[in-house]
Amino acid sequence: MPEQTTADNLRALPSVDALLRTPEALALRERVGAEHLTTLARAVTEGLRAELRSRSEDPRDEASGDGEGVTTDEVWRVEASRAALLAEAARRLAHAARVEESRGLRRVINATGVVLHTNLGRAPLSTAARRAVSREAAGYCTLEYDTETGARGRRGARAEELLAEVTGAEEGLVVNNCAAAALLVLSVLARGGETIISRGELVEIGGDFRVPDVMSQSGSTLVEVGTTNRTRLSDYEHAMTERTRLVMRVHPSNYRIVGFTASPSLEELARLARERGLPLYEDAGSGALLDLAPHGLSDEPVIRESVAAGADVVTFSGDKLLGSAQAGLIVGRREIVGRLRRAPLYRALRADKLALAALEATLDSYRRGEAAREVPALSMLAATREEIESRARVFVRRLRKRVSEASMTFEIVEGASAVGGGSAPTTHPPTALVRVTHSTLSASALDERLRRGSPPVVARILNERVVIDLRTIAEEEEQELTDALASL
Ligand SMILES: *Cc1c(COP(=O)(O)O)cnc(C)c1O
Repeated sequence: MPEQTTADNLRALPSVDALLRTPEALALRERVGAEHLTTLARAVTEGLRAELRSRSEDPRDEASGDGEGVTTDEVWRVEASRAALLAEAARRLAHAARVEESRGLRRVINATGVVLHTNLGRAPLSTAARRAVSREAAGYCTLEYDTETGARGRRGARAEELLAEVTGAEEGLVVNNCAAAALLVLSVLARGGETIISRGELVEIGGDFRVPDVMSQSGSTLVEVGTTNRTRLSDYEHAMTERTRLVMRVHPSNYRIVGFTASPSLEELARLARERGLPLYEDAGSGALLDLAPHGLSDEPVIRESVAAGADVVTFSGDKLLGSAQAGLIVGRREIVGRLRRAPLYRALRADKLALAALEATLDSYRRGEAAREVPALSMLAATREEIESRARVFVRRLRKRVSEASMTFEIVEGASAVGGGSAPTTHPPTALVRVTHSTLSASALDERLRRGSPPVVARILNERVVIDLRTIAEEEEQELTDALASL
């Protein structure tokens, strides 16, 4: 076969029009849209042209293929014909469309055992919350409409009522997330004045929520008291001046100071603040509505207890331990919550109808006393190692029927799950992991195949093996996971 030159290849490069007429391109037309498909086709042909040119500058350059279909190298060396280049361009076009689609929001199977996995959307919604989102809120709904009177209603009114009921607070308010809640509270209560906070609580949570930054954004001046590990009530007392507007306590969430530590209780702080006529604000972060100490989460503030201890306003997330949609929840004294609701900033931070629908349904589970059973994040955290192990046994038995031992083996080993979402960093619920070993694929290759499947399965690699933690996998997902593993 005659050797093709780069110049020949450049001449044989398909036109955008020729590429758009290939069966691959025609099949993509409807899904991608004609205009965008042309943009992709142009990028593909330009990419090929640039690669051919760079080869002409350095003839020894070995372009490497990406492992799928014909490598560009083979195309050039073996069959540098118009047809081969066209086929290569069509393959790249389909690949580009697939990559774009996979970048959208998709359901995944969370096999990591991290219950509130921030990268995977934190809390999975309860059945009732999913139904509320899709059946009640997705279309027109009573977001700001009162069907009794036919007049305008207040957004979030039902969620606010439920929040007050399940926390024992006078009133509740819902905004977009807990960072927004903190910004609102600090801006409305302390702008232009000072906020007192312990040095041990100036933390960064989840990458970009930093207490000092939110404080400066709010226009309040931070007054640090005490030391990193020990802060006394008298430290707060000595810092109080006529410029003080607020006393703030922050739950350090993803961070723990251990050893020689001390800080006043919330009750003590509340008593001091009340004596001085100052409001006390607690940013509780994860904000458990139930006491999760029986499941090893003894450090998480229970919102009802914070309210009872005398905090005037408390903020927490909707999608952490509460187990619902992303939201910033605020509870507290009527006068304070009213001021927050009337502030212009509230309008910029308020929650949308989908989040409110999920939240109402989830809070209703708490009100009925059924949250431990109905809210997935709570039942996942509560699952014992024994329960997970007995599920794992059935799961592995089913897999062994589908997959020959020569190609893949499955063992059950002891391990630990995690809470995630910046909550309870030192709690690692014991679990039973399914360890997968493939006869030819490495752990990272196996992990990649699972991740690129449909739906993607996100697993963990532990000691060079892929491990699957059933704690974070719903029973309804087990069949899909079995299929995904059996098809490797
Ligand atoms: C997680 C957390 C936040 C931020 O909450 P988002 O809902 O993610 O905005 C703020 N404060 C504390 C103490 C937290 O734990």
